[in-house]
Amino acid sequence: MIYANYAATSPALSTAVIKEISEYAGGAHLNAARNFEGLEAGAIALRARQAVAALFGAADPLKVAFTSGSTLSLNMAVNGLLRPGDHVIASSVEHNAIARPLESLRKNGVIDIDWLSCGADGRVEAGTLRKAIRKNTRALFMSHASNVLGTILPVSECFAIAHEYGVFTVLDAAQTAGALPCTMAGLADVIAFTGHKGLGALAGIGGFVISEDAARAMRPWLAGGTGSASHSLDMPEFLPDKFEPGTGNTIGMLSLAASIEELLRTGIDNIRRRELSLTSCFLAGLRPLKNITVYGVREAEHSVALVSLLIHGYDAGEAARCLFERHGIVTRSGLHCAPLAHKTAGTYPGGTVRFSFGRGTTEEEIDAMLEALSEM
Ligand code: PMP
Repeated sequence: MIYANYAATSPALSTAVIKEISEYAGGAHLNAARNFEGLEAGAIALRARQAVAALFGAADPLKVAFTSGSTLSLNMAVNGLLRPGDHVIASSVEHNAIARPLESLRKNGVIDIDWLSCGADGRVEAGTLRKAIRKNTRALFMSHASNVLGTILPVSECFAIAHEYGVFTVLDAAQTAGALPCTMAGLADVIAFTGHKGLGALAGIGGFVISEDAARAMRPWLAGGTGSASHSLDMPEFLPDKFEPGTGNTIGMLSLAASIEELLRTGIDNIRRRELSLTSCFLAGLRPLKNITVYGVREAEHSVALVSLLIHGYDAGEAARCLFERHGIVTRSGLHCAPLAHKTAGTYPGGTVRFSFGRGTTEEEIDAMLEALSEM
C-alpha cells in the first residue's frame, strides 16, 4: 500500500513516540495537579508546553493551552473572542473547522463575515485585506496553508496589516505545524494546531498558543474544574487554566512532546526541504500527463506537500477508488471538509483527488503514483 493521505492524518507514530507512550500506558494514570502523585502528569504537560512553545517561537510555555485538536481550538477562539456586532474576515479557502463556527454565529445574527477572496489557485492579495477592514472588525482568521490546494497563504503580511488596525489574528496551522517553519507567535494572536498530522502525535491532542492581549480578551468557552482556585465558580483568569477545564489528555501530551522534540532535532527546515523535493518531483511528473488537471499554485515552493487534481473521464470518487483498488494508493477525494476552498478553485461540488505526502513518503512511491496516473 502507498499512503498519500498525510494531510488528513499521519499513518504511524515514530519509534521514539511509541516507546514513550507504551511505557506511560504500562504505568499509573495520575491526574495533573489534583494530588501529589499527579506531579508526573503535570511534568508531562509542562514538557509538552515547552515543546509546542519552541515549535511556534513562543517565549512562555504557559501561553500554550491543550485541547483535542484544531477544531476545538478554533471553536474556542471564535466563540471566546467574538461579541455581538463584531465583523470578522476569513479567507475563502478556510476549512469547516473555521467556516462552520463562524457561520453559526452569523446565522444567529451575532457577527458579520467577509470572506477574503483568494484566486482559483488559493493565492490571496494582501492589499485587498486593507479594503475589507471596518471599524468593528474584531478578528482575521486564516489558514497557514489550504488543505485542498496546498497554497501557503501570505499570513505574515496579512497579520501585520490586521495588527495595524488592532484586529486579532487567528492562524489555523493544522496543515503546516511540523511541515513548515511556523515561528508565528509574535504575529498571530492565536495559533491553533492539531497533533495527528505533521506533528506525528496521537489523534485527540492539539491546542493553541495565545498572545497576552488575546488571552485577556478571550472568554473561556468551556468551563469546569481546573484543580486551581476551586473556591470560585468562575474560571480562573490565569493561563493555561483559563482554557483547560477538565482532565487533560496526558498520553496525548506525551506523544506530542516526544514527537515535537524529535521534529526539532531533525530540523523543520530539513523536513520542509525533503517534502518540497517530493512535491516538485510529483508536479514535474504530472506536467507531461495529458488529461490531468492540477489545481492550486502548481509550484512546490508556494505549497505544502499536497496536490489536488482531476483525471478527465473519472469523477473524484471513482479516481480515488481506482487508485486504491488497482494500484494500492490511498488518497482522499471529495470536498476535504472545505467546500469554500473548492468553490474558490472551481471544483465544487464534485471535489478533487488529493495526494499528500509526509515523512514516510519515498521517491519510489512518487514514481509509482505517477505511473498509476499515467496508466489511468
Ligand atoms: N483545519 C485544517 C486546514 C485542516 O486540514 C483540518 C483537518 N482536516 C482541521 C482544521 C481540523 O483538524 P482536527 O480534525 O484535527 O481538529
